[in-house]
Amino acid sequence: MNKIIKFATTQREVITYYHIIVSLVYMKQSRYNHYIENGDWSYWYNPLYNQFSRLPIELGRKLNSFLDQHVDLGNVSPVFYQKLVDSNFLIEEDVDEIELVRSYYQKAIEKKNAFLIIMPTLNCNYKCWYCIQDHIVSMMSNDTMEAILRHVDYMINVEKIERFHIDWFGGEPFRFYNQVIKPLSKSIIAKCNEAGIPFKNSSTTNAYFLTDKVSKDLEELKFSFFQITLDGDKLNHGQVKFMEGLDSAFDRALINIERILEDNKDVTILLRINYTHKNLSSSIVEEVCCRIPLKYRDRVTIMPKKVWQEGVDKSFESVLCNIMQEFTDKGFRVSLWSPIQSFMPCYVSSKYYKAINFNGNVLKCTACNDLYCSEPRGVICHDGSIRWLDDFDKKTSEASFETEDCLECKRLPACMGICPRDHIQKMKYCKYNNEDGHFETSVIAYIEEQYRRMRD
Ligand code: SF4
Ligand code: SF4
Repeated sequence: MNKIIKFATTQREVITYYHIIVSLVYMKQSRYNHYIENGDWSYWYNPLYNQFSRLPIELGRKLNSFLDQHVDLGNVSPVFYQKLVDSNFLIEEDVDEIELVRSYYQKAIEKKNAFLIIMPTLNCNYKCWYCIQDHIVSMMSNDTMEAILRHVDYMINVEKIERFHIDWFGGEPFRFYNQVIKPLSKSIIAKCNEAGIPFKNSSTTNAYFLTDKVSKDLEELKFSFFQITLDGDKLNHGQVKFMEGLDSAFDRALINIERILEDNKDVTILLRINYTHKNLSSSIVEEVCCRIPLKYRDRVTIMPKKVWQEGVDKSFESVLCNIMQEFTDKGFRVSLWSPIQSFMPCYVSSKYYKAINFNGNVLKCTACNDLYCSEPRGVICHDGSIRWLDDFDKKTSEASFETEDCLECKRLPACMGICPRDHIQKMKYCKYNNEDGHFETSVIAYIEEQYRRMRD
């Protein structure tokens, strides 16, 4: 203590140094710290607190070895020490971070943000080979639309939800834009406005029906986000998505995207590239650039996603990274990987999420046969509440990360365990074993993208 007082010249400094020395005794490294070296840089990442940093490699290496060897960093470099404390790379000794993850999960699934996926139809104008859906001829009836409105009333008046988000899904939802999307959106927006609840509209669509007329309505209907899929480059996309009388499904989607971006300045697009190891080459970059002018590209995020039937090939990672770098150089946002930040493995876990099928059946996961179940997972009651069969909603909210492997895993806060549907079926695996990329490469790409966004 005397040494501190001699070294510090003002009372404030005495207090600061004293604090550092005292807190050192009680500080430890977060169990979720990731330290990665690549080229001239060292990358620091902590998914629990969503903290990241990039330091010159020599400096990062030194800092990391100090921490590993329990060197008194507060004495060696008070500035870096304080930065590590402020960003939770160093935390107090008695913090139980697994309990923190559990409490964040619980809070997340109970958050009163209503999320409703609505499927006006299961039919689609295309017939992609990888799609799990049977394209049965179907359209939501007026009775089902009325039941949905009763449910919205129930969520607002009884559940007292704080936000409302609708995502239109299918089949191709915009097939029935005039019959379902437009009237239902208008009614739900009116109800939310009256209750003073923020409302957001989005859709997962193939973009075929996003015509000039639809584009002009989007602002009034509060659409702010679209997820649109490309099946590889133009040639490959055309072999998956085609229709009689249509020259190019690839061009049609991109022309419609440009129009939406032009007409709606608040809309952002997630351009998901469904890839196999054969349908992706760098020609896709130029083909997309031809259609999306530079001025709109920062509202388009490119996200590659391996189709689930394709096996794993870790060597494909470099092809992916190169193509994503080209997209970045052309002004697009990219998302090679992004950590889960909601603390839920899937929105399906949320108590205030459900999907409503064209026939009024209520379900949770839209990526399974529940879409075609003769016995629905849930039904909308007369008062607008949902009656779930066999406590199905409670099962989907169980924490799938309560396994020995996940609780030991340093990636846990960025992953939150396996898919809830698989968890109910008692499946056991690690989510990352099915990815082409390495976790470390993904983290580096994520941090670099965050730095790029901060610069822009
Ligand atoms: S699924 Fe795999 S990566 Fe995710 S938390 Fe569990 S062990 Fe970790
Ligand atoms: S398959 Fe799993 S992760 Fe995908 S939506 Fe269904 S529950 Fe969620």
